[in-house]
Amino acid sequence: VTYALVACVSVLIIACPCALGLATPMSVMVGIGRGARDGVLVRDAHVLETLQSVDVLVCDKTGTLTEGRGSLSGIETLGSIAETDLLRFAASVERVSEHPLAEAIVQASVARGLDLETPLDFDYISGMGLQATVEGRVIVIGNEPLMASRDIVIGNANNLADQHRRSGATVVFVGVDGQLAGLLCISDAIKESTPQALEAFRQSEILVVMATGDNKSTAQAIGRDLGITDIRAELSPQDKHELVKSLQEKGHVVAVAGDGINDAPALAQADVGIAMGTGTDIAMETASVTLVRGDLRGIVKARNLSVATMQNIRQNLFFAFFYNAVGVPIAAGVLYPMLGFLLSPMLAAGAMSLSSVSVIGNALRLRGAKI
Ligand code: ADP
Ligand code: MG
Repeated sequence: VTYALVACVSVLIIACPCALGLATPMSVMVGIGRGARDGVLVRDAHVLETLQSVDVLVCDKTGTLTEGRGSLSGIETLGSIAETDLLRFAASVERVSEHPLAEAIVQASVARGLDLETPLDFDYISGMGLQATVEGRVIVIGNEPLMASRDIVIGNANNLADQHRRSGATVVFVGVDGQLAGLLCISDAIKESTPQALEAFRQSEILVVMATGDNKSTAQAIGRDLGITDIRAELSPQDKHELVKSLQEKGHVVAVAGDGINDAPALAQADVGIAMGTGTDIAMETASVTLVRGDLRGIVKARNLSVATMQNIRQNLFFAFFYNAVGVPIAAGVLYPMLGFLLSPMLAAGAMSLSSVSVIGNALRLRGAKI
């Protein structure tokens, strides 16, 4: 009898850590699979826990809220350089860049049948633009701060730029040999899924902050269309990082959604970094979640998945403890004085596997979770 009792108790005591050990990894594994089916790739398991408490989403504009596949909607020449040369110089430099603006500029020049040159001394200034030498001329393309840093005077051209910005277009300045030669306007459509995603964030009481390296006027035009009121424009990659940090210091749990190299520092700082699968590799490597199709509704799904997974883990822990909390005393003979019942070692072994089986069975239910 003593041997049988010892056997029963030890079998069940082994069962508890066994089922307990399965509880979390099983749910996480099934949860990650569930997300993947809907295009939500979770790389760090621990974000499945963090996601449910996210209350602020810092959202990049170009390529995240918008398609990131803009098209050239205007060219303004401001010096002696002709329009086709302006576009050809710009596109020759941009062909080396993987920025969404670059693609629009290159595409426009290809559509016009222009022959592109190979740029020399290429220099990419993240969040500002780029510089290279084409046909012996130094070409600088990018935003105002970049022009200022190269002593290229913009002056009145800013009014002209603002006219285009008010309709939501991004304006990049082109400098040739230290002189402003013109500006290129790129219109980038808002992703079809973005308004729906923003509505879902509102319902989940997630505050959305737009953070962009683009000009304030353009950012406000896009923000107005989308109903985003908190807009931080003209941010360098470092500024985006600082923004996330300061929100965290105020006690927020911050998710960052971005697609570019310029978003990488912010993605790394975020409690949950979310990259667009349509964006740069650096963003995806830095983030803990990737949305395969770049559809922001995936963030809501990821959050729901997080809630479902955590709930599933709690259920598993209950199963793991329940059998053993009941089983161990019975195995130890608490019912014997009253009912004359002793658990046979065979039944104890059965109960042992049952706790693990119920944990696995419950975790597998996550496969059908609605997210
Ligand atoms: P966002 O934060 O909206 O994704 P970025 O930080 O990538 O934008 O870029 C900020 C600004 O820097 C752009 O609006 C543009 O003016 C300039 N810029 C960045 N990369 C390029 C590029 N490849 N060509 C021209 N301008 C660029
Ligand atoms: Mg971007």
